[in-house]
Amino acid sequence: MTLAQALAEAAAGGLARLDAQLLLLHAIGRGETDRAWLIAHDGDALAPDAAERFRQACARRASGEPVAYLLGRKEFFGLTLEVDPRVLVPRPDTETLVSWALAVLDGVAQPEVIDLGTGSGAIALALRHARPDARVTAVDGSADAVAVAAANARRLDLAIEVRQGDWLQGCTARYDLIVSNPPYVAEQDPHLAALRHEPRGALVAGTDGLADLRTIVRQAPSHLKPGGWLLLEHGWDQSAAVQALLHAAGFAQVDSRTDLAGIARCSGGRWLERG
Ligand code: GLN
Repeated sequence: MTLAQALAEAAAGGLARLDAQLLLLHAIGRGETDRAWLIAHDGDALAPDAAERFRQACARRASGEPVAYLLGRKEFFGLTLEVDPRVLVPRPDTETLVSWALAVLDGVAQPEVIDLGTGSGAIALALRHARPDARVTAVDGSADAVAVAAANARRLDLAIEVRQGDWLQGCTARYDLIVSNPPYVAEQDPHLAALRHEPRGALVAGTDGLADLRTIVRQAPSHLKPGGWLLLEHGWDQSAAVQALLHAAGFAQVDSRTDLAGIARCSGGRWLERG
């Protein structure tokens, strides 16, 4: 069969065109930047073993597995991260948080930064890549995530410290920036069904989704330098709640940023006193 026939078969099975193109390129050992090549060569023959790999990947995609797990990688803020089911797939929306973080670090020389719940290392690595003078620590409660983040750091040759930890517990340093994309989905949220292939521990945070955000807001002041920032990603409907937590904890300059869909997706504030 030809590449075009394989794509037609996937489309007939209901697969999105882009997903099918990416999975087919992967099955023939090419990267996602080769989509133009694929269109120009769709009359080429597809070898039987590659066709079998492609069919299996299409079936897994149809059952809801993220494309990133099937490809084994995901682009985030210009970096290619290796990902697998041990970590949440980095979302483009989280690039909003990275952009905001870089803005608050502008003008701070050799900033000290900690990323809580780093997962694949996406935020920590993007910050270190954009700010080579930063000292970046990445923490995760999951030993699996620590392994994935450390492997990404090694492969990308970005020097960050990765360690296992329970948010800021036991951490004695003070930072210019604490940044986090913690779990924030409520236990009973119906969206969890669509996220079932990703680690539940990276997604769910108590009955209202705010359990980990509350912990981080409570712990952060005693780990920030005067003038340091706490920036948090949260759910589409949580900005008012997170802003209220930040105000109640004594943060100043409390504000939010919108994601690609125009939803207030990150909130943060500045700690002006010594906590
Ligand atoms: N943004 C993810 C989703 O809803 C959730 C990520 C998280 O809990 N931090 O798909």
